[in-house]
This record gives sequence, C-alpha cells and structure tokens, in this order.
Amino acid sequence: MSWELVIGLEIHVQLRTAEKLFCSDGTAFGAEPNSQVCPVCLGLPGALPVLNGEAVDLAIIAALGLGCQVHEVSVFARKSYFYPDLPKGYQITQFSEPLATEGIVLVRSDGVERPIRIRRIHMEEDAGKSIHDRVSDGTAVDLNRTGTPLVEIVTEPDLRTPGQARTFLQELKRTLEYLDVSDCNMEEGSLRVDANVSLRASGADEYGVKTEVKNLNSFSAVERSVVAEAKRQTAILDAGGEIVQETLLWDERDGSLRAMRSKEESHDYRYFPDPDLPPLRLDSERIRVLKAGLPELPAQRRARLMEVHDLEARDVDVLIASRSLANYFEALVAVVGEAKVAANWVKGPVLKEANRVQRSVEDLGIPPSDLAALIELVEDGTVSGSMGRKVLGQMVDTGKTAREIIETEGLSQIQDSDELNAWVDAVISENAEEVERYRSGESRLIGYFVGQVMQKSKGRADPKALSAILRGRLDQ
Ligand SMILES: [Zn+2]
Repeated sequence: MSWELVIGLEIHVQLRTAEKLFCSDGTAFGAEPNSQVCPVCLGLPGALPVLNGEAVDLAIIAALGLGCQVHEVSVFARKSYFYPDLPKGYQITQFSEPLATEGIVLVRSDGVERPIRIRRIHMEEDAGKSIHDRVSDGTAVDLNRTGTPLVEIVTEPDLRTPGQARTFLQELKRTLEYLDVSDCNMEEGSLRVDANVSLRASGADEYGVKTEVKNLNSFSAVERSVVAEAKRQTAILDAGGEIVQETLLWDERDGSLRAMRSKEESHDYRYFPDPDLPPLRLDSERIRVLKAGLPELPAQRRARLMEVHDLEARDVDVLIASRSLANYFEALVAVVGEAKVAANWVKGPVLKEANRVQRSVEDLGIPPSDLAALIELVEDGTVSGSMGRKVLGQMVDTGKTAREIIETEGLSQIQDSDELNAWVDAVISENAEEVERYRSGESRLIGYFVGQVMQKSKGRADPKALSAILRGRLDQ
C-alpha cells in the first residue's frame, strides 16, 4: 500500500517590539535572567494587562502581507495549563475569534508554483523558559520572555513533502523579513515551528491521525524530523497498526523522536474570553492605512528585478534572498550601471566574503560606492578579475578602499610590453622542450606558457596582453 504524506505547520513568530504584549517590560534577547519582569507578566494578584498597540500593528501587517483577511473584532482568551514557566497558570491567546484568517503563500518547488493556504493568524503572549543546565540540582526558570508578543501562523494541511515544508518556511520567513515585523532569528527563538504530520492511503479524501512535532528551530530540523516521523508512521501502518495522536519532541543531536505527551484536545485548556481584556476592535481605516503602507514583497521584487534589469530568474532568486541584499544590489546597480556586472559581483564574490567572515552583506563594511570603484578598476583592466576578488577580501579585512590597496601593494596589472617581453623571453628559454612540442602542433600548451609567465609576474601580468605577445613569439 502506498501512503501520501500530509503536513501542516504552526509557526510562532516573535514580533519586533520594544515592549511586551501587555506590559512595558523590554524584550531584548540575552538580558540577565528575570530582569525584564513586572507584576503583569508575573501574574501577581491585581495586575492588569494593557494591550501594546505597536504589537497589534505588526500583527496586522504580517496578516496583510500573507494575504489574510483581518477581522475588525477579535477576542483574547485564556488558555489554561500548568507549567513552571507560566506563572499566571494561563496564556493569553486568541482562540475562536482570531485576528486574521484565510491567507495564502505561493511556494515554488520543482518548477511548480503552488498555493499554501494560511488558516489563521492570531496574537498571543510567549511563556518563559525552563533552563535545565544552569543549576546542578534542579531546573531554573527565566521569565524574561513571559509576555513577549507573538503571532501564531497556522497553515492548512497543504504541504506534501518535507522539501515543500522547507521551501514554504523559507518563503514565509523571507516575507516576514521584508515586512519587517520580526527579526526571524531562529537561533534566538524568534521563529519556531511545530509540524503536524499524518499519512493517508494514496487517493483517499480523509486525513489520517496526525502527530505534532514540537519546537523545531531550524529549517533542517523541520525537514529531517518530518522525514523521520513519516518513516515511523509508515512502519506502523504497514504492520497493520494504528497511529496514536500525540506530541513528539525532536532531538537534533541523534535525529530521534520521543513522545512528550498524548495530544490534548482544545477542551483540555478550558479556553474562555479573558475578562481583563475587552474584545480587540480595529478601525477599518487603521487596517486600510497599514495595507497602503505595505512594502514590496519578495515575489513582487523578483518580478520587478527580472523585468527592469533583464536578469535570469535563478540570479534574481539569489539577490532577493533578503531585503537588505536586494537593497544592496539595487544601490550598486545605481552606481555601476550594468545590472549583469553588478549581479555577478553580488551573488559571487560579495556573498562569498560575507560567508567567509560570517556577517551579512550590509555589515561587511563595503558601501556600494566602494564596491563600484573596485568594479571599475577591474572593468578598465587596472587589475584582473581574480586580483579584484582578492582585493575585495582585503577591503573587508582592512577597511581600506580598493585604490589604496592596489596602490600600496602594487597590484595593478602589468601591460607594459618591455616587462612582459622580458618574462616571455625567460619562459621560452627555460622551456625549450615545451616550445618544441607547441610548434609541432600541441597548441593547448599555450595555457602552460601563460601560467609560467603569470607565476613570474606574481599574478600581475595582464593575461590578454600576455597571450598576444606569447602567440606572436611562439607562432614564428
Ligand atoms: Zn511585565
């Protein structure tokens, strides 16, 4: 029997606010444990929540950017459960009346573009963090994150392969970055994923029993854990067994899944409207203004760059990977003029340097105008392309301009024929045997002679001028 894999995702995204969702504590990552807490987020008696308007705006922007319908009335509810990192004993979230519903994200994989539906987006507060390795005889708790504003984005079960899930998440993350609603830093927990996984007989309409894999904080963890869970479920079903609805934890170190608890039903949480918070009523004008102010999204930018600059789709896909990279590219084109030249530099040497020093392109310290000056020196033949790439590395390391490096290190290409002729003479007299073979028909040896002269010139001979001189001498 063959099985079809069905995947739905729930993504928690931390909104980029200075303050928490219902109090004015800060949200900075990495602060001293329990230094960003107050009676509201600690759930002390009598403390009352006050909704953060900035968080509401960011949540609306996220929903609009993902094509959702934003509802003018939504309701905050209490989700009751006990856990040491949840001092109130309930989490404030939205349940039966969420902020937004019915969005869509277009995902391109294997050359096919398919729509992945967003079922709902709701606002909620984060819980704290239990820390198991800080004290030797127990578990410590850090409540700094308690009350941090999140949106939870829930997809319909529209994904069919682990690869599609990964591609969807990349597109979602990129869209949220373009919208500037979150830093989406997965290492710091700003974007966390739960995956709902089930199998059904190929061609069946009904979904199978699903399990939930919790708290995945990298794209590869999502992909690998779904592969592992699909394999586990397949083995059970093939043996005639039944899938138990449960929550699983993925262990990234050994690639294993273990049962965390049997999955709760929503009635276990005793949801009810939070009596401290009135329904959230949004003015339609506020939604309209935020919609009008939405930035250009990745798909639109892809289309525009392809059209305006006549670039290939696969080049543009690299350039729009982040909004800052696309901005950098466009600023460079504005100075350089030639879009293809600028694109080749950005997606090649510039990204390679960023990767080498583990910084983003905008943090490399190379303003587009400085890179443009280097490109001009390569284009006019002052330095070769390969020397240009080396100079770029030195610009990153030293903060000097291309011209300073080329002048102080004497790196400009040698086109002077006296100098080149002297090296060619030397190479010809040192390689009599190869000269003989070249003249009797082994014309591919020209590359060898060029290499020998380049060595003598320490890479500075202009290969074009050099080739011409070499051919003139050898073809006599
Ligand atoms: Zn607080």
